[in-house]
Amino acid sequence: MKKRIAVLAGDGIGPEIMKEGLKVLGTIAKHFNHTFTYKEALVGGCAYDKYGHPLPDETKEICNNSDAIYFGAVGGSKWENLPPELTPERGALLPLRGMYHLFANLRPAIIFGPLADSASLKSERLEGGLDVLIVRELTGGIYFGRNKVKSLTLHEGAVQGNYAVDYMIYSVPEIERIAAVACDAAMKRSKKLTSVDKANVLESSKLWRKVVTDYVQTRFPQIQLNHLYVDNAAMQLATNPKQFDVIVTENMFGDILSDLASAITGSIGMLPSASLSKTGFGLFEPIHGSAPDIAGQNKANPLAQILSGAMMLKYAFGLNAESKAIEQAIMKVLEDGYRTGDLANKATQKEKILSTSQMGDKVVEYLST
Ligand code: NAD
Repeated sequence: MKKRIAVLAGDGIGPEIMKEGLKVLGTIAKHFNHTFTYKEALVGGCAYDKYGHPLPDETKEICNNSDAIYFGAVGGSKWENLPPELTPERGALLPLRGMYHLFANLRPAIIFGPLADSASLKSERLEGGLDVLIVRELTGGIYFGRNKVKSLTLHEGAVQGNYAVDYMIYSVPEIERIAAVACDAAMKRSKKLTSVDKANVLESSKLWRKVVTDYVQTRFPQIQLNHLYVDNAAMQLATNPKQFDVIVTENMFGDILSDLASAITGSIGMLPSASLSKTGFGLFEPIHGSAPDIAGQNKANPLAQILSGAMMLKYAFGLNAESKAIEQAIMKVLEDGYRTGDLANKATQKEKILSTSQMGDKVVEYLST
């Protein structure tokens, strides 16, 4: 298979972890006989420094001519006080999501068995690890209501006297397309789907519940669907996360629940994500930021970046075996006790604490055996 990959490493630890992600993709290409062509481009603060914009035309051009975007992380205090549209996250990440209609955000909350001790929940509640997939609607709901109500007199976001207002709006096609992504994921896993809303209070949630129910009943009757209100879902996630397999929810609820789920796993450096369009084109990035506090020290955990590469292989290119091979190599590395500093606990032997580049090398070594 031949694929063109836009490589947007970004700021802070981005370039360090991206290097390891590419090492692993290179090994996969060699073992499975694929050709991946990489085009690197600046994004975020470093792009602003060179071009005066966090998402310059040169970078868009490279993304336009690629089959997937492999993204590191952006941001840092140096660029925090720029006008909002020029800050790394708002000026680059949000436009990329909009430009490529990346409406589906897939965030696995995974705890690899050997890391159950470093999670924030008692390890008996996480026996054997955790593997929950949160499917979040990414381009609708309350964060984008403004675009849909321009004709109304009371503008979202504008404080009028003592009032401020935001609009949470969903249409049937928007809900159906994210339900389709969630059903597809559920069919490939345990055929169990939980839809999260606030249908006891919100009209948009009532529509959400009806559309998801109809969609599943008519197209995927074999999926076991249940519904939870978002407050209950948060409590259940924090106390008994293993009851879930795939969770589908709207933009703001997904934002909050996916952060909660990642906090439960206790290791921000381990969690990948995918933002997908209807065509399968997508942006693949770790959920963490640019970690300026440890940038340039070769001690960041590259595994979230490497796992984002595995998601790219699976969701953008349909290379399931290749994706699984990466996950299995990481599992073996962890089982053998190798950790980056962020995952180290007292029980871990000192000689098994690895730098960023050593961890990348270790995954490559285990992929090759
Ligand atoms: P952060 O995720 O960068 O860091 C939070 C903490 O986790 C830090 O202590 C950091 O050292 C640690 N950490 C993060 N990734 C790690 C890794 N791979 N290995 C080991 N430790 C890791 O969040 P923050 O400090 O709130 O934000 C820093 C910058 O990143 C800000 O400018 C923020 O706007 C930006 N940010 C970008 C993205 C993105 O690019 N998608 C996401 C979140 C934050």
